[in-house]
Amino acid sequence: MKITKLEPIILHAPVTRGGIADSTHRLTHWGAPGVAIHTDEGQIGYGFSGTHAHLPTDRLIVDCIVDSYGPLLLGKDPREVRAIWEMLHNQPEISWVGRAGITHLALGAVDIALWDLKAKDLGLPLWRLLGGSASKRLEAYNTDGGWLNWPLETMVSDCKRLVEEEGYKAVKLKVGGPSSREDLRRVEAVRKALGPDIRIMTDANGRWTLPQAIQTARHLEDFDIVWIEEPIGFDDLDGHRRLAETISTPIALGEQLYMTAQFRDFIEAGAVHYVQPDVVRLAGITEFWQVADLAHCYELPVVPHVGDMCQVHQHVCFAHPACSLLEYIPWLRDWMEAPARIEAGFYVAPDEPGAGMTPSLRALAEINKA
Ligand code: MG
Repeated sequence: MKITKLEPIILHAPVTRGGIADSTHRLTHWGAPGVAIHTDEGQIGYGFSGTHAHLPTDRLIVDCIVDSYGPLLLGKDPREVRAIWEMLHNQPEISWVGRAGITHLALGAVDIALWDLKAKDLGLPLWRLLGGSASKRLEAYNTDGGWLNWPLETMVSDCKRLVEEEGYKAVKLKVGGPSSREDLRRVEAVRKALGPDIRIMTDANGRWTLPQAIQTARHLEDFDIVWIEEPIGFDDLDGHRRLAETISTPIALGEQLYMTAQFRDFIEAGAVHYVQPDVVRLAGITEFWQVADLAHCYELPVVPHVGDMCQVHQHVCFAHPACSLLEYIPWLRDWMEAPARIEAGFYVAPDEPGAGMTPSLRALAEINKA
């Protein structure tokens, strides 16, 4: 099998209720810039990054895929995905201008498309190719009820619906708003509405200063929170280490870290408890696996951030022993040929061959129109 063509793809999918916000970001669409990799055997592999649907930067990502990585990929056998990843990752001209950022997001999309091709070639869902088991219980927690721009009543009723009607046992709430007092009031209201048995995660998206994080975390202890995610700036290793030594609620982070070595530093410093790599922020499934193995060595749970809207992560989580819980956000549900399925709060192992990123006919029509 040989790679014959790379076709750029940019998909912008609307988010829930036309717009969501956390403490740091506000968006109306989720972006999926990526690539369709064609082969001489007619098989097509799809891989995407995850963005805030900003067309100028999405174009930079697909240009990097097609113009920088493309010539190195033509004629290669896509099934040799790890060897190709090493070759692309160590490509001197590209790594000179970025071991993170655009080049890394681009490599992530390429790597996902290559794993997609390899799994499709074998007629297997990726989780099976990676050695996973259909009997594994992979729980989903839902982030889509807890946005910071939802009025309090909406957030409470959304979280209640997710729990009572859809069967989730865990939800995430955004915090880090202008008033810590208001953050605490919102968390308290959801805790009261859901009762003591539902797990609640919080995510400040890096908004707090270290003293604010210490103070707010101490108050959050009253509400039995599973973790505080990105309490301070995402790359502040020493700040997170000091915070971890000071508060009792565990710290989750990793969605904005680009490479295995950064995860190593946070883990070795004791600055993270729940490790949150993202295949679309790292350079794909290949590097995600390295991070998950590393976390597993330290007996830390891996609970990925879903920049792919969980389509690929469900596969790696069904296979990797460090993963038993995965975020769920539904924004690509209507745009994928085989959207992730949750039943009673647990992921259902996908049957379809591939890595789960094949766009639906509707998505392909939208892409072609754009
Ligand atoms: Mg987050």
